[in-house]
Amino acid sequence: MNDILPDQTPVWQFFEETVRRVLRSYGYQEIRMPVVEQTDLFKRSIGEVTDIVEKEMYTFNDRNGDSLTLRPEGTAGCVRAAEEHGLLFNQSRRLWYTGPMFRHERPQKGRYRQFQQVGVECFGMAGPDIDAELLLLTARLWEQLGLGSHTRLEINSIGSAEARRTYRDALVEYLNVFRAELDSDSQRRLTTNPLRILDSKSPETRRILAGAPCLDAFLDEDSREHFSRLRQLLDSAGVAYTVNSGLVRGLDYYGKTVFEWITDSLGAQGTVCAGGRYDGLVEQLGGKPTPAVGFAMGVERLILMLETLELVPEHVNGNADVYITAMGEQAVAASLSIGQSLRERLPGRVVVTHCGGGSFKSQMKKADRSGAQVAIILGDNEIAAGTASVKSLRSDQAQQSVKQDQLAETLIAIL
Ligand code: ATP
Ligand code: MG
Repeated sequence: MNDILPDQTPVWQFFEETVRRVLRSYGYQEIRMPVVEQTDLFKRSIGEVTDIVEKEMYTFNDRNGDSLTLRPEGTAGCVRAAEEHGLLFNQSRRLWYTGPMFRHERPQKGRYRQFQQVGVECFGMAGPDIDAELLLLTARLWEQLGLGSHTRLEINSIGSAEARRTYRDALVEYLNVFRAELDSDSQRRLTTNPLRILDSKSPETRRILAGAPCLDAFLDEDSREHFSRLRQLLDSAGVAYTVNSGLVRGLDYYGKTVFEWITDSLGAQGTVCAGGRYDGLVEQLGGKPTPAVGFAMGVERLILMLETLELVPEHVNGNADVYITAMGEQAVAASLSIGQSLRERLPGRVVVTHCGGGSFKSQMKKADRSGAQVAIILGDNEIAAGTASVKSLRSDQAQQSVKQDQLAETLIAIL
């Protein structure tokens, strides 16, 4: 679990503001859920035989003896909340959320125990048009973040529950022959949840999987049509993708469309956004049958991309714009009110008023370290004359003396 320190938060804020703006522009509404839910909710939605539920959840008993879990993902809680508050009643919804998720995994680059996701969930829309919109939306987000040329899209259809059942039998029949050569997790899953084996990272298992029957040969007509229409929509919108028939997602609730956005710039942890359709989940959790599709992106990985590829825009930093220094009692009083009026006149600019006294030299040092373009100097002379000295900290421009009521204009011209 990481601390995110003041020199890192500007990138986070840039990311969050961009996400907020893009989602808003598509008409998505934000929802905020608690970070803790009943353990049972995750078991029922994510699936008992998944990495998350088997080994990654932070689960504890509270004082009433209820089993609670720090959310490992947001979809289950979002469905729970939407149902509980009647948001899905005869209507479609486009929702999003962001916040910390918790998984007890082996920490490594791009994989943490507390990490941040942005999740998007759409309810009540059964067709491939909304699947396509989600992919367009993410593509636009990558563009806005400057990551457009560093991410690629893989899509697949994993069909209906029925189709997956038939496929499962064929897969098990094939894998049984190689049983002894599979990794131990996969051996166990052969009887509990064989489709999860397709997710295995073991090279030996992957080698065996290369000869396994393919899910797409088992797809039902409805899923096939949905997928082919989705591909047409993506083609006509100009979103590039590849079909990866080995792509299955690590959670039980997905069906039909699944997708991942992947980058090659982060090494092994290259999936930055993943999701798909989960038409059965709302009903499975006690609601009316409601088609749904969504995705989650890993904020740390996307931020790591911005940093690794040196794509953080120059204006994204924690720098001040103006730093006001003051020597003497009257100057200190003036510095505070000048600061107030400058913030009024220069919206969006960062105006730092020096506090804590000290010599002129030490105040100027702090002004420099603040990253400000300009220092304003207030001393006895300036106070007596009703002026302020304006000193550029990043250029050779000569220091100028201006009337205090002309300060804002002067600064607007400089900044
Ligand atoms: P992975 O295959 O990388 O383990 P996953 O399939 O477990 O990912 P999802 O549950 O689909 O991941 O979560 C969506 C996204 O959240 C991932 O694509 C990734 O970007 C991010 N993510 C998942 N787990 C972590 C983690 N432990 N630390 C940081 N980011 C994570
Ligand atoms: Mg995982």
